[in-house]
Amino acid sequence: MLTQFLLHRVRSVLDKPTLGPVRTFGGGNRSTSPVDVLRTTLTFGQFGLFRRPHNTGTKFIRELQGNYAKLTEKDIATLVELARSAEPQPPPTTPATAATVSITSPDQLRSYNTDWTGEFHGNASLCLRPSTVAGVASILAYCHERNLAVTPQGGNTGLVGGSVPVFDEIILSLSRMNRILEFDEEHSTITVEAGVTLGRAEQHCRERGFCFPLDLGAKDSCQIGGNLSTNAGGSRYVRYGSLHGTVLGLEAVLADGTILDLGVGRKVRKDNTGYDLKHLFIGAEGTLGIITKATLSCSPAPTGTQVALAGLPGPFEQVRWWLREARRSLNAHLCAFEFMDNDAMTLLRAHGDGFGVPLQGSHAFYVLIECGTAADTEHRALSPLETYLDAMTRADPRVDVIIAQDLSQSAHLWGLRESLPELVRRSGPSILKYDLSLPLPSFYGTVEAVRERLRQHKLDARTFSWGHVADGNLHLNVSSEHPRDMLRSTLEPWLYDVVQQHGGSGSAEHGIGVLKTRLLERGKRPEVLQLMRRFKALLDPKGILNPYKMVDAGDAGCRRP
Ligand code: FAD
Repeated sequence: MLTQFLLHRVRSVLDKPTLGPVRTFGGGNRSTSPVDVLRTTLTFGQFGLFRRPHNTGTKFIRELQGNYAKLTEKDIATLVELARSAEPQPPPTTPATAATVSITSPDQLRSYNTDWTGEFHGNASLCLRPSTVAGVASILAYCHERNLAVTPQGGNTGLVGGSVPVFDEIILSLSRMNRILEFDEEHSTITVEAGVTLGRAEQHCRERGFCFPLDLGAKDSCQIGGNLSTNAGGSRYVRYGSLHGTVLGLEAVLADGTILDLGVGRKVRKDNTGYDLKHLFIGAEGTLGIITKATLSCSPAPTGTQVALAGLPGPFEQVRWWLREARRSLNAHLCAFEFMDNDAMTLLRAHGDGFGVPLQGSHAFYVLIECGTAADTEHRALSPLETYLDAMTRADPRVDVIIAQDLSQSAHLWGLRESLPELVRRSGPSILKYDLSLPLPSFYGTVEAVRERLRQHKLDARTFSWGHVADGNLHLNVSSEHPRDMLRSTLEPWLYDVVQQHGGSGSAEHGIGVLKTRLLERGKRPEVLQLMRRFKALLDPKGILNPYKMVDAGDAGCRRP
């Protein structure tokens, strides 16, 4: 009987040491644009990226860097004063000093200049931390006037190098804009400032019996402004869909300091009065404006949730079948359906106490399923998830399943999945991370093709794969002792061509940043790219917002001065 079996299996989880989930984190024109010159000069392989440009010599950098103004002592003093004078009056606590609204010490700036992967390093000498939209607006108006480049930064957990400067751009951190402005139960909306962490927004909703429509492993560090700017996907996408659907309104500041109210605080879901401009800023990675506030719709939380981990012998078609059946039988109760392969699970087991992986033996694939329970199902002998698992395990007795019995066990199972990015980061000197969208028939075959290619090129490397399989989102990681550039030139652009042939995307949810600018150019039709550049030129005519990232405005007639 499934339930007894499950209870027995759960006891064995309780006997194991528990895992503290890893949830906090460290804190010209087209043909001659700086980005292109950087690429051709520093890359290895067609899809190579550029790194640590400030380490490559001052003269060289001057040739590559956009023609922005050089930040002077006078600029710093003026910008700090602009940020300080826009602080709330009277101050909520002690009056803000220069040290509150800015960082200039090289030691303190280090973590702001380095991205989460450790691959990208900027050289900013100033980080501004305004706490009001007026502060953001006056800083941008000054930078626009002076032609100073700016990199917006949220929690700095982005994985494509978008949140750190390439050269010495000023970092504009939204961390101090961190107030939850309103929770409206009747309309199920939450309005927050951009610097509120995802974890806080989620907790605020949970405490009121609601679900925030986004969840991801970096939630205690990443911020809503960063989430919107990357159009983050995460593990609840299968249930709540894209942020393009759940963001009801936002406030953004343009490069010249204009504040745009695009429906922030809005309660209504329908509004067909012209172009819906908020969508331009969702996924723009800080290249079109700075998001300062947002209103999102949230849903009443299920009366309870259940989480299960299942080990499947494979082949991958079995994962697809489990997903199909989960969608069919769990329907709207399905909150998350994640997958990990055996290499990923082996990495977890190899670590310290084995991370308390509750399943015995090894399985080709693992699926983590979260399912909501509703009041109308509570009287049933088996919950929807148990009914589904009962049917699935009867169909294949080789499957091993464990179902969490309380919140701490659920957190434990989620902790396994969410620990993987951090574990992989520490798994070898060279790591490549791919964030691919693929139709399910070619999903895992792509991992196998990567392994085969590495073998053919006699490169000793391990792959670890997991992802939001319900959305066709594969996180494929390659770890090796070989130099990263050697691995990259072996796999790129070949892998992106494979993905394109299958009708997928080379960036499912992490965005373009600096890492994937070439991918964007290969993947989009020229007329689409041209239109993107025209939008950029229209909203940011001097190209001061997050330069060298995503698109270069050069072709749109917007030459960098
Ligand atoms: P940052 O990294 O600071 O910035 C990201 C981009 O947005 C940069 O281009 C930056 O310039 C811009 N930006 C930041 N704030 C603003 C603003 N207010 N206005 C305008 N532009 C801004 N991503 C997913 O989609 N799904 C996942 O499941 C997922 N899991 C992750 C797990 C781990 C362990 C880690 C480390 C990362 C994960 N990510 C995931 C990637 C990352 O967390 C997301 O991209 C997240 O949305 C970034 O938010 P952030 O606040 O850290 O933004």
